[in-house]
Formats: sequence, C-alpha cells, structure tokens
Amino acid sequence: MKQLRILWMYHDLMDLYGDKGNLQVLKIRAQKRGIDCLVDTCTLNEKKDIPSYDLFFLGGGADREQELIYKDLLHRRDAIQQAMDQNTAFLLICGGYQLFGKSYRDQDGREIPGLHFFDYETVSSDRQHRCIGNIAIEASMDGHVFKAVGFENHGGQTQNVASAFGKVLSGHGNTFDGGYEGFITNTVLATYMHGPLLPKNPIIADLIIQRALNKRYGAAQLEPLDDLLENKAREIMLQRLHAE
Ligand code: GLN
Repeated sequence: MKQLRILWMYHDLMDLYGDKGNLQVLKIRAQKRGIDCLVDTCTLNEKKDIPSYDLFFLGGGADREQELIYKDLLHRRDAIQQAMDQNTAFLLICGGYQLFGKSYRDQDGREIPGLHFFDYETVSSDRQHRCIGNIAIEASMDGHVFKAVGFENHGGQTQNVASAFGKVLSGHGNTFDGGYEGFITNTVLATYMHGPLLPKNPIIADLIIQRALNKRYGAAQLEPLDDLLENKAREIMLQRLHAE
C-alpha cells in the first residue's frame, strides 16, 4: 500500500478560517485512491525529522501567532532547506506564506524576520485597511490552468514575488490591487487563499498529493474522483464574483 506522510506545522497556533480542512481533504482524497495518509503535527520546541515527510503544511495566523512561532521556525531552517532539497511538497497559507520570504512587518511596525528562502517581503497596512473577502483567481500549477476560489483576510502586502500562483479575477491577492496572487515553484505553493483552500478546489488538492507522491515514489498516477458537487460549488462562487 502506498503511503503519504504530512507534517502540519504549528497546528495549535497557525489555523485560521478552516485551514485544518485542507488536511482533511488531502487525507480523504489520498485514502479514496488507496493511499494511506499519515498527518503528523509539530509545535514549538517539538523534535520532528522534517525532511522525512512528503508534505509540509503551514497555515495562516494572526500577527500574534506569527510572533509566537517565528523563532522556532528560524531554528528549523536547515531542516526545512534539506526538505526542499529533497523535493518535499510545501503548502503555505497566508501567515505561513509570509514567513518563507524575507520579512513580515506587522500593523504596529514590528519586523519579524522570515526564513529568506524567497525574495518576496511583506509589509502590513494599517488596521483599517485589510484585504478581506472572497477571492477568485486564474491559477497556473504544474502545467494546468484553472480558476480557483478562496477567502482572504490579511493586512500584509507582499511585494517582489518572482512567480505568482495566479492572476486575480476578483478580490486582492498579494497586494490591494497588484493583480497577482500567491507564489509558486515546482514544489512550493504559497497563497493567501484560506477557505479552506482545498475543499473548494479539488484540482489543487490532487496536484499537491501528486507532488507529495512524486517526492516519495518518483512518480505516481492518481485516478480521478467524482467532484461534481465541489465543482458546482466553485462555479456558483465564480458566478457570484462575476469571474466565470
Ligand atoms: N497576520 C498576517 C496578516 O494580517 C496574516 C494573516 C493570515 O494568515 N490570515 O497579513
């Protein structure tokens, strides 16, 4: 039986707007393909062998939680680098996305250093101005172009993103009106889209599973599932946002 091993970082601190639902979807969609899926968690000061997992998941968090975790995260930089070098799949949402760049400056002007894996940096606007609401994008991932929907709520404005995940059709994305959302490489998907993201966009869930399987097995085929209801729900949201 094939196996997938997922590490959910700071599950007790970084879990906003149902990020946890992403893990549930990954687990169920893997199991439906006969793949055994282990979801392990890792919080502050806990020892885990990060490179031994196939998928590293870090959800969103308010400024307070980001402040609480960043030192612990920085201590793990070498292990995370090793995981990247071994083609681990990464899914980073909002606050997690921000911390993989150079830095995050919060609403009170305090600067949290990021892991510096990527060149983007994030500065928060004031408390009155946040990017909040439903969002629709035209996403591009692993050779697939598709529309995706989510929910965003961030003050952070992320600049200098080398390769965006998608073009914004409705909502904000990386900045108030820059027109692009998220960051993507062959192994890292970082996005402002909570939702949670994956129940609303099963294609992203499968591409993530595929990436994680690629790490463990080199390559793997995923047979399609019946996503009629999920796709209908997404269509309705796209219509509502005039992004169909
Ligand atoms: N605290 C960050 C911001 O406001 C991230 C918020 C989030 O993860 N939703 O930009």
